[in-house]
Amino acid sequence: MDNETMMRRDLAHIWHPCTQMKDHETLPVVPIRSAKGVWLEDFDGNRYIDAISSWWVNLFGHANEYITARLHEQASTLEHVLLAGFTHEPAVRLAERLCAIAPEGLQKLFFADNGSSAVEVALKMSYHAHRNNGERKELFLSLTNSYHGETIGALSVGDVELYKSTYEPILIRSVQTPVPEDMSEASARKAAEALEEILRRQGERIAAFIVEPLVQCAGGMHMYHPLYLSLAKELCERHNVHFIADEIAVGFGRTGTMFACEQAGVAPDFLCLSKGLTGGFMPLAVVLTTDGIYGSFYCDYLEYKAFLHSHSYTGNPLGCACANAVLDLFESKDVLEKNRAKAALMGELLKPFEALPNVREVRQTGMIAAVELRGYEPSERVNLKIFSSCLAQGVFVRPLGNVLYFMPPYVIGEDEMRQMVQAAFEAVQSL
Ligand code: PMP
Repeated sequence: MDNETMMRRDLAHIWHPCTQMKDHETLPVVPIRSAKGVWLEDFDGNRYIDAISSWWVNLFGHANEYITARLHEQASTLEHVLLAGFTHEPAVRLAERLCAIAPEGLQKLFFADNGSSAVEVALKMSYHAHRNNGERKELFLSLTNSYHGETIGALSVGDVELYKSTYEPILIRSVQTPVPEDMSEASARKAAEALEEILRRQGERIAAFIVEPLVQCAGGMHMYHPLYLSLAKELCERHNVHFIADEIAVGFGRTGTMFACEQAGVAPDFLCLSKGLTGGFMPLAVVLTTDGIYGSFYCDYLEYKAFLHSHSYTGNPLGCACANAVLDLFESKDVLEKNRAKAALMGELLKPFEALPNVREVRQTGMIAAVELRGYEPSERVNLKIFSSCLAQGVFVRPLGNVLYFMPPYVIGEDEMRQMVQAAFEAVQSL
């Protein structure tokens, strides 16, 4: 089997995510046969560094031996059982461990099976908790330029026009408050003032404020100062508005700390996790919340008070086994410390981009680095040009519009990091 054959078979039936399928008349689909560490290998034997961790899910490399072994064991013991009325050890252990390392006060955990569904859970729980307390709060608040997933509820609290505008007439009610313009404290304070004004006017109607802490990933890797999170959390408390931290993309060490909220000393009312949770092995998500919110649903059976939300694969044991393996690796390998050195190297390697005339800004938070270009119209589709150029040099990147970014698996080596950045530099230089 070769690339060409695989691509033909694929295009006969598969409708790809986030894709204008007509692009594939000229742009090849890349059929991956196997992967190891940071490397993807196609059916013609070409190898590519996965510089974006396959949509930010992979932490410890593809086909990681330790995670693979735990997954095999679990598959031959218990592959799945429903989680309503039943339980299993991988879920129990995972819940104990996540509650132990999460920001203070998050002692209850609800399982979902992908990031968007975790966001749906948090939104519904927030609305429902207020309702159980006798309050009608039918509006959600989020940041401008935010992204929380593609299902209707998650899309409603997002603010990336490209994904949202078509569906506007069928979305649920939400309002947006300005995200801090940049990484400065001054911008954080200014944005917090705008938030205060919105909460003063509409706080009574708002159930929850949902944020992507520190980095708005799908919104072009836009970064802001942790101060904003602490100011925002305080304001939300004052107005009886839940604070939802969507750490689906930034959790598990991406920003330099295990959870991004830690950098602001903030404990949210809801914490949504997915992606890196299983090291990129299985779809799984969790929503952590407080005893207080859990308590507002806890009573003698009354239909409208219980949280009657479920997904068939809720708490899937294979996913939980991978997540437990991921936590084992964090515990045994001093990952965050090693990432600090890798992040510093990435920052060094990116410096030459600053001298290029078509670069507007280089920014970085931990293991997320972005190069924002200037002077291009969306119709020029520089992202596709950079993608193709890098791929030809053995590096897989997927720029967001005119923002090229790197979010490699944590196991990336120094030479691989140099190759990754060099390929991208040449691609940007030759635009
Ligand atoms: N929230 C954030 C911050 C995300 O980055 C994403 C996915 N990119 C989601 C939610 C949705 O997760 P999923 O794609 O698993 O539905």
